Amino acid sequence: FILLGLESSCDDTAAAVVRGVPGDAQVLSSVVMGQSSLHADFGGVVPEIAARAHAERLDVVVRQALADAGVGLSGLDAVAVTAGPGLIGGVMSGVMCAKGIAAGSGLPLVGVNHLAGHALTPRLTDGIGFPFLMLLVSGGHCQFLLVRGPDDFTRLGGTIDDAPGEAFDKTARLLALPQPGGPSVEAEALKGDPARFRFPRPLLDRDGCDMSFSGLKTALLRTRDEVMEGNRLTLQDRADLCAGFQRAVVEVLAEKTRRALAVYLADAPADPVIAVAGGVAANRAIRAGLETVAAENGVRFVAPPLSLCTDNGAMIAYAGLERFAGGARDGMDLSARPRWPLDQTNAGMLGGGK
Ligand code: ATP
Ligand code: FE
Repeated sequence: FILLGLESSCDDTAAAVVRGVPGDAQVLSSVVMGQSSLHADFGGVVPEIAARAHAERLDVVVRQALADAGVGLSGLDAVAVTAGPGLIGGVMSGVMCAKGIAAGSGLPLVGVNHLAGHALTPRLTDGIGFPFLMLLVSGGHCQFLLVRGPDDFTRLGGTIDDAPGEAFDKTARLLALPQPGGPSVEAEALKGDPARFRFPRPLLDRDGCDMSFSGLKTALLRTRDEVMEGNRLTLQDRADLCAGFQRAVVEVLAEKTRRALAVYLADAPADPVIAVAGGVAANRAIRAGLETVAAENGVRFVAPPLSLCTDNGAMIAYAGLERFAGGARDGMDLSARPRWPLDQTNAGMLGGGK
């Protein structure tokens, strides 16, 4: 199968072409247009600006993705599109564009859950089999998923408040470091002493896989104000704060991963794998922490390349391919959904799906 995939649920406008079968597919092209410069002055993504930019750019990225892949619409088997969850204006722009393509070319339409796109990415990059354990950790999400099939996800737990990416971004803001906060905090942490400040590890004492990251920024703010002298933070203080913050995140994720693995391994999967996705998976300290936990348990650790961990069209094309291969088709009544929990991602939940 050859599918075109469209993604426009947050602040990246993306399209890609993927070819293959479930568990054995290649990315023929992947085009991502970010919008960070459009939102830079506002300290966050402005939904109206995002929706307008998506509407203007979808055409451009689709054309480019098809050209890069060297296929025309007639060479495709279907069009896949993110139908949620996300900023509703952007999701609607994508769904509308995909419907236009489908109506104009007679191609089948397949709606995809954005989180399923992230969660199935390690099958695209590494061809891993079901069931696998997924830690999806990004700017907006943090959850453990037991993935048993392209439409079969069980959420084992996740953050009850902020996502870690958000915590990294807020930490960067509190310490006057550039956005996105993840990479800048990680770079500072390398120069710092992680043992100097001890930040809370919320919910670590509680059973289960739930996590909380919002208290971390409060603790960080308090500690920052304590060490600041006359409004000035030394470079060493800043690096130490970053290192202490990052260590707390690493330890919480590692310990909760241990518990999620215990649930996953209880069913004795034949070739156990834990995979990560989402922008925060780029963090080397977090990766190292997860790798250690995986190794302790004799489980393979899979991390897709960063370009496929953050929002992109290839993951949507691929998740669409998995659904398409399973017989899923959506009609012109496919709707854009701002909220769409993954464990309700079964076909039939989508308008017109089967
Ligand atoms: P979602 O996909 O959940 O809607 P999003 O699009 O904001 O959210 P991503 O694009 O997957 O998320 O990831 C962006 C987030 O990843 C940002 O919060 C960023 O700070 C964080 N991030 C990127 N690199 C790193 C890093 N090296 N360490 C920690 N966090 C990082
Ligand atoms: Fe995403």
